[in-house]
Amino acid sequence: MSEVSPVYHRVLLKLSGEALMGNTAFGIDAISVNRVAQALCHIIQKGVQLALVIGGGNIFRGVSLKATGIEKVSADYMGMLATVINGLAMQSALQKTGIEARVMSAIHIDAICENYTHREAISHLEKKRVVIFVAGTGNPFFTTDSAASLRAIEMDADLMIKATKVDGVYAIDPKIDPKAHRFSRLSYNEVIQKKLGVMDTTAVILCRDNKIPLRVINMNKVDALDRAISGFDEGTLIYSEE
Ligand code: UDP
Repeated sequence: MSEVSPVYHRVLLKLSGEALMGNTAFGIDAISVNRVAQALCHIIQKGVQLALVIGGGNIFRGVSLKATGIEKVSADYMGMLATVINGLAMQSALQKTGIEARVMSAIHIDAICENYTHREAISHLEKKRVVIFVAGTGNPFFTTDSAASLRAIEMDADLMIKATKVDGVYAIDPKIDPKAHRFSRLSYNEVIQKKLGVMDTTAVILCRDNKIPLRVINMNKVDALDRAISGFDEGTLIYSEE
């Protein structure tokens, strides 16, 4: 791990449900959750204020449930509830590393986590607690990528990071073409024009219009997160044109 100081003060990290799945086909893999928690612990100890938006694709995705005949709105609520399960797992893993964490839900579920309020979330961050935002935006027809963009703006984050299974944004899927070109930098407008599947368009436009830079990194690469918060050329940086 590099021992360079962070150049970002407050970071919002979008973790997809897949990041908690490891090599399993479904659900939560304890080893993967603990590995992610250790990586987060390392950057928090460097003084970065960290907020997470966690996905639910390892448990339920609205789109795939719709195929089973469950109507879209219910399927999306089930997807949002899946993110709550992941958030609780991540909170527990972080606490085991000695890091204080708070799960805040966009849907009121008072018995198991806090309800999201802007003021309380900022207060937790200032107290160096990791805030784990769950239940997406609280609305069907959105994704957790859009929730991540929204919370990054609300938290006044100076960087959003999207942790994926690949090293950044490629012109074509590197699994299809191993020689595919990886972009080091891209503007949000290029992402839209080239139809690059970084995030859904709502999420991209929210970041673009509110000038939140986004770095896409590989969560399975040991020092990727550390390098991203230290301002190194890791993965792909996506920026708003002035
Ligand atoms: N979802 C939703 N509204 C939101 C966020 C999520 O309806 O604001 C639902 C949607 O069905 C989605 C599921 O929750 O498929 C899980 O989120 P996502 O697919 O973004 O998770 P990820 O792919 O990041 O694991």
